[in-house]
Amino acid sequence: MIYLDNAATTKPSGEVCKAVINGLEVFGNPSSLHRAGLDAELLVTHAREIVAESLGCQAEEIFFTSGATESNNTAIFGAYRSQGKRKKRAVTTTVEHPAVARPFDELERLGCEIVRISPDENGSISAGDILRAVNEDTFLVSCMLVNNETGAVLPVEKAFSMIKKKYPQVITHCDCVQGYMKLPVRTKKLNADMISVSGHKIYGPKGIGALYVRKGLHIPPFMLGGGQERGFRSGTESVPLICGLGAAVEQLKDSIGENLEKMRALDAYLAKRCMENGGISINYAGEKSPYINSISVQGLKSEVLLHFLEEKGIYVSSGSACSKGKKSGVLQEFRIPVQDLDTTLRVSFAVTTTEADIDALADALSIAQQKLQKLRR
Ligand code: PLP
Repeated sequence: MIYLDNAATTKPSGEVCKAVINGLEVFGNPSSLHRAGLDAELLVTHAREIVAESLGCQAEEIFFTSGATESNNTAIFGAYRSQGKRKKRAVTTTVEHPAVARPFDELERLGCEIVRISPDENGSISAGDILRAVNEDTFLVSCMLVNNETGAVLPVEKAFSMIKKKYPQVITHCDCVQGYMKLPVRTKKLNADMISVSGHKIYGPKGIGALYVRKGLHIPPFMLGGGQERGFRSGTESVPLICGLGAAVEQLKDSIGENLEKMRALDAYLAKRCMENGGISINYAGEKSPYINSISVQGLKSEVLLHFLEEKGIYVSSGSACSKGKKSGVLQEFRIPVQDLDTTLRVSFAVTTTEADIDALADALSIAQQKLQKLRR
């Protein structure tokens, strides 16, 4: 299998699987006062420290969740419940993942004034555009770091620093799912009050994520119950998944820069192979993460191509996994030409991806293109 759909999910590494099993075997409830409970609590504490170190924050600023969807919902509705009664405006972009976009739709239904910033004619969003949408009546700005469909890197650091200078009370939130452990992400540098991350995009398990909440920011809890996670996120901690997330972060923490270089080379290689094939366009030319590539193969519908590639053991995605074949509104927002929307493939890399994988993809695409030409003759 040649798996090039790593923006949808990644294959857990051997270390991660071992850590998950260890977390199952250390079966105590971290809230229990006896030794079995303490052993489990120690594992959770250790993983929390690893995640905190990876973001350059304190362990007490990290809360484990069931994934980035929960982290985003907690951040957005938490900001609303903390300040949204006094202030009306919340700002986001038109290219967010549904785990941010749908909570913002709900805020709108609740009576908030939502400003959604669109990319310009070149497909880019500027920090100034985000700042200009913020006013005295704004309680929240949420902007993703890396777009999951095109890999576009949004100017979060610059936008949030300008916002914090002019409007220090505005809560800033960043969905860092596709950037975390792939690009350097530091809480202070990003100027984010809250950051969402997910385990399964970084070779960790599914169903685990974390939310960074800056110390001193008061956000009411989203889940009420037994008071775990210092009252912020009730529910018995998933010790095995938390261990898996910790192991995934630990494994990547010293190689972000090295992996990024490797991905840049693969990204350039994919572009070269696409050019050699001809009839393939690279959909996003702005500043992007090399882990994610959106391409369009002229005349070949994404779904057809996806299954053709699947028969050859090559797995990619059409647009994003969440859009399940629906025409992507986000790609339209990035100004990808209408004729290319139906023919878009997302090719996303893992640290294990090789040039040989890309050769296999490009060769298979070439066969598909030749077949199409024959049909047209
Ligand atoms: N945000 C972004 C940018 C994503 O790509 C994803 C997953 O596709 C999510 C949020 C949701 O993450 P999770 O699957 O952990 O809920």
